[in-house]
Amino acid sequence: MTPFTYARAASPDDALRLISHPHAKFLGGGTNLVDLMRETLERPDTLVDVTGLSSTIEDLPGGGILIGAAARNTAVAEHRAVRERFPVVARAIVAGASAQIRNMATVGGNLLQRTRCTYFYDDEGSRCNKRNPGQGCDAVDGFNRNHAILGASPACVATHPSDLCVALAALGALVHLRGAGGERTVALTDLHRLPEDHPEIETVLAPGELITAVELPALPFGRRSTYRKVRDRASYAFALVSVAAALELEDGHVKDVRLALGGVAHKPWRAWQAEAALVGKPATAENFLAAADAELSQARPLKDNGFKIELTRRTIAAVLADITEQHA
Ligand SMILES: Cc1cc2nc3c(=O)[nH]c(=O)nc-3n(C[C@H](O)[C@H](O)[C@H](O)COP(=O)(O)OP(=O)(O)OC[C@H]3O[C@@H](n4cnc5c(N)ncnc54)[C@H](O)[C@@H]3O)c2cc1C
Repeated sequence: MTPFTYARAASPDDALRLISHPHAKFLGGGTNLVDLMRETLERPDTLVDVTGLSSTIEDLPGGGILIGAAARNTAVAEHRAVRERFPVVARAIVAGASAQIRNMATVGGNLLQRTRCTYFYDDEGSRCNKRNPGQGCDAVDGFNRNHAILGASPACVATHPSDLCVALAALGALVHLRGAGGERTVALTDLHRLPEDHPEIETVLAPGELITAVELPALPFGRRSTYRKVRDRASYAFALVSVAAALELEDGHVKDVRLALGGVAHKPWRAWQAEAALVGKPATAENFLAAADAELSQARPLKDNGFKIELTRRTIAAVLADITEQHA
């Protein structure tokens, strides 16, 4: 591990002052960053601990919730208002990692955790454009069973690993940021980038920009939401495919729907086309599958991961059927 200095930020302004060092990084629970430092895939010379900043979980007027970026994943998953108004968030968090890791991991850190592509981690034996820009990608023609089927590029086929982010994408969450240029808010669906020619640039964050909070905007039918994660082991494994959904029905028809996918792209994938295909239609298994097909018509499987298309299709339909049953 490369030697580094450690400083604990007492306020957002303090964090921005400390991060202005060129090779400094923010430190949340450290459950991803410290692993990457041990592997020397990340080599910050200064760590700015932001776990002392806001970790509150507050009600917003109208039914939304504002979650401080330093809130621990467990605290969010166990919070009563989150569980009642946005069960998809609680379920997505609990589907990830282990209890000990969730106790340490923060919301800010969860959003910025890095891919689990094995070629990214293998810095002695494999080429990776994310790790070494311009080097090439050994996953494209390698063992790519876990890789992306949507939005990938010849430069990178890695997937985003977060479960929480998939739920946040479905709910239209907003990410509050603070940087040298002031404060701004971006939609979670715009925070992460598709790889295109620059997979090393993973988000739209400016250097040293701090995530201060995540906002769940009011969504009355968020109460009827859920998350399903399909993986090789029942626990302690990243998603092959995951689906976050919220569904509002009226007289057996889809009045509104929110749908996002995990394990299939370089970013949490909001299924806009499936949503558009469903609104106004009867809530039937046939229409759920047709909506999934509308989204997946843009899928481009690799050598080993064609199965993900059918798996995603069936998981979307199963999740929507589950929520429909809850309405009955
Ligand atoms: C064995 C194992 C299994 C796991 N399984 C899953 C899983 O199934 N599903 C899943 O979703 N996750 C899983 N994880 C990942 C885990 O959820 C992440 O490691 C965790 O959420 C990261 O949060 P952290 O606070 O520890 O972030 P850190 O490791 O501290 O930081 C991660 C990144 O975020 C940046 N950062 C942190 N806070 C801020 C901030 N406020 N503003 C700007 N940048 C910030 C850091 O600089 C760093 O780049 C697993 C992890 C492990 C070790």
